[in-house]
Amino acid sequence: RRKFFVGGNWKLNGDKKSLGELISTLNGGKINDQTEVVCGAPSIYLDFARQKLDAKYAVSAQNCYKVAKGAFTGEISPAMIKDVGVTWVILGHSERRHVFGESDELIGQKVAHALEEGIGVIACIGEKLDEREAGITEKVVFEQTKAIANNVKDWSKVVLAYEPVWAIGTGKTATPQQAQEVHEKLRAWLKTNVSEDVAKSTRIIYGGSVTGGTCKELASQGDIDGFLVGGASLKAEFIDIINAKN
Ligand code: 13P
Repeated sequence: RRKFFVGGNWKLNGDKKSLGELISTLNGGKINDQTEVVCGAPSIYLDFARQKLDAKYAVSAQNCYKVAKGAFTGEISPAMIKDVGVTWVILGHSERRHVFGESDELIGQKVAHALEEGIGVIACIGEKLDEREAGITEKVVFEQTKAIANNVKDWSKVVLAYEPVWAIGTGKTATPQQAQEVHEKLRAWLKTNVSEDVAKSTRIIYGGSVTGGTCKELASQGDIDGFLVGGASLKAEFIDIINAKN
């Protein structure tokens, strides 16, 4: 059975004081040990977060570059992420795609390099509102998934995060049915294009305005194996989301 996976994506938020308080709250939280939990900190606070968070929480970077080192001002590498004890990276987030213009090709290269370096990858995909309205959700998420899958040899270190762009930061959570429908199709895509084993074992998590109130019904869907949480991951409510499967 797939282990439930809950990631928090702090995005560009917090400072040592507020993140320190959040971390104290998380460390004191009672969490289901059947759930794998990862906190995505801003790169400048990765070391801080790793030092302060209990071992029951893994830490994730929110992005990284496609090579280990060199003349790439402003970037961080998987080697550096590992060096501070951090074990995951979020790649292909919709904000990276649509605010910073990252292409499927670049995201694929980053995925390949992070996995080669032994970092786990939370690989994000998701359609925009106009794409959903045009009826091309499937086409969009399959193309994005293909660009990722082409760069994966070992799927055990990959979590696929379906985050419809229209649900991110909008308070409009996808309905459990809407999310389940896409997750089921993604799993079928993995079965056809990768393997039956990978389709069965890969966690497909949902992101987009997940809250303590919406998480339980979403978590009850057969193909929803966890969440990637933005806003609510900065609050004590994150603990309720971690425990959605209790
Ligand atoms: P919100 O939970 O704030 O909608 O953000 C979702 C997200 O983008 C997580 O990566």
